[in-house]
Amino acid sequence: RDGLVDIAIKDGRFARIASELPSPSSAIREIDAAGRLVVPPFIDAHVHLDAVLTVGQPRYNTTGTLLEGIQIWSELKPSLTREDVKKRVLEEIRWEVAQGTLHIRSHVDVCDPNLTALKALLEVREEVRDICNLQLVAFPQDGIMSFPNGRELLRKAMELGCDLVGGIPHFEWTRDMGVEDVHYAFELAKEFNRDIDCHCDETDDPLSRFTEVMAADTIQQGWQGRVTASHCTAMHSYDNAYAFKLIHLLALAQVNVIANPFDNVVLQGRFDTYPKRRG
Ligand SMILES: [Zn+2]
Repeated sequence: RDGLVDIAIKDGRFARIASELPSPSSAIREIDAAGRLVVPPFIDAHVHLDAVLTVGQPRYNTTGTLLEGIQIWSELKPSLTREDVKKRVLEEIRWEVAQGTLHIRSHVDVCDPNLTALKALLEVREEVRDICNLQLVAFPQDGIMSFPNGRELLRKAMELGCDLVGGIPHFEWTRDMGVEDVHYAFELAKEFNRDIDCHCDETDDPLSRFTEVMAADTIQQGWQGRVTASHCTAMHSYDNAYAFKLIHLLALAQVNVIANPFDNVVLQGRFDTYPKRRG
């Protein structure tokens, strides 16, 4: 709208917006925004804080594929220290908060026998509590079923205090192991009474169909509204008949989908010959 307005905020919500509001004596604080733009805080719904500011370490991604990216990260992982992770993460969070972000959901790789990054992030979550709300997702980057002690590490991460359970079914060695990956995420979610946010079908493979498993588990376990499927890029390769069926199922299950276009616009389509898909 045009012109300058006053904004009354009560209990964290915009209570009234008008060209001139009386300043009530009950107002705890009055802020003069000096005519600047006022917006609700931003939400960063998907970030991997443990991996920020590491480009080129130990080498650059020459194929541009997600698979090489994961490989490079696995080469860096053994050398992570709690201090190094915390320093990078705090730098990144300061940048985000300076831009107006108040809520951040970060996945944290738990496929590390020492859980170094997770321990660092748990400390950071407390340290930044007065400037932003940081949620941590226990994220099994190398698989729950395909990584040594994957199940135990994911459980340990929940015991240490992760806010959400993650998964990565399309990355498991076989279709059956991928299904088991989803089931196990739900098992832990129920046990710890936590929401779920799985990386799901982040591939161009049209036969990668685990988002349907997440939706079915959501309905069967009564977890409606508490489940998020992230990336879901295989959906751009599905035939229309299947995509229609899946979208209906996702709506029925009230599963949230978080797409990550800035990420996947550069990662996907790398195995295409010609014609190469766009967008
Ligand atoms: Zn991700």
